[in-house]
Amino acid sequence: MNQKELDRYVRDFHQAVVNQQLSLYYQPLYDLRTGKIIGAEALVRWNHHERGLLPPEWILLLAEKSGLIHLVEEWVIRTACKQNKAWQDAGLPPLVTGVNLSSYTLESDQLGSRIQAILNETNLQPHYLELEFTEDSTRDGERTIEILAELKRIGVKISLDDFGKGYSSIQHLSRFAMNKLKIDQSCVRECMSDVTQTTVIKTVMAMARSLDVQVTAEGVETQEQLDFLWQLGCDSAQGFWFSEPMPAEDLARVLKREERFRNSAFLQLNGGQ
Ligand code: C2E
Ligand code: MG
Ligand code: MG
Ligand code: MG
Repeated sequence: MNQKELDRYVRDFHQAVVNQQLSLYYQPLYDLRTGKIIGAEALVRWNHHERGLLPPEWILLLAEKSGLIHLVEEWVIRTACKQNKAWQDAGLPPLVTGVNLSSYTLESDQLGSRIQAILNETNLQPHYLELEFTEDSTRDGERTIEILAELKRIGVKISLDDFGKGYSSIQHLSRFAMNKLKIDQSCVRECMSDVTQTTVIKTVMAMARSLDVQVTAEGVETQEQLDFLWQLGCDSAQGFWFSEPMPAEDLARVLKREERFRNSAFLQLNGGQ
């Protein structure tokens, strides 16, 4: 893309933000012991009038270039919190919503008080919000420790995303007191064929367990991967094998169907939970 095209996209993007054309898709997260949906990851989308649904990489790049990154991320957090509360108010089983945050937001001033303000405004209890950071954005040690500690005081959950994608360090887990680590999809793919990867994942799992950190596998696409990760002791998983990300209404339908199934005479008679 040349500069002129990029400029046009930045202008379009500005307009899209003003006109509220961004949306969130949600990908369910499954508990591997019970098979229930226990969470959903919010993923930003932009429906461009010519190009269709644009992926987050684009949106984040444009948001950065146009100086709207804080605005966009604040919108994502607020929308995700509002949606979570709306599902609860509709009588659906409570979920933890995962929200991805870039290093810009992690390093921004008063992140803690802004998150607190959004929680107050949307009336969502803090433990239903999980903030996802990648290792790249947690590089700046001391400051990150302070910010994450403040977020934990507020009561939101913190997870380390894309673990194993780059030069991951298990130190991050203990230093930053994360609640969860999410094993990157590249790692999930390789662990089936590469013995070294398998050993790495096993070691990571053992350490996570000793630190009381939950482990989620991302990008699970096959039954074999799922079985394997389950055997290794993963707590939860998400991926196309279960479900692709979807609009909030669709996830509500899935949750309702599961609820109905669980409450049905069929399952009761068969001794289900
Ligand atoms: P992520 O946080 O690691 O999110 C998971 C990505 O993997 C999502 O891509 C999801 O659609 C995709 N995925 C899920 N299951 C599978 C699978 O089985 N196979 C494959 N091949 N892919 C799968 P998506 O939505 O394109 O998001 C890409 C990245 O963009 C995210 O990675 C996250 O780092 C970033 N992102 C998304 N939304 C936001 C946002 O609102 N704010 C920020 N800062 N970053 C975001
Ligand atoms: Mg994520
Ligand atoms: Mg990830
Ligand atoms: Mg990613």
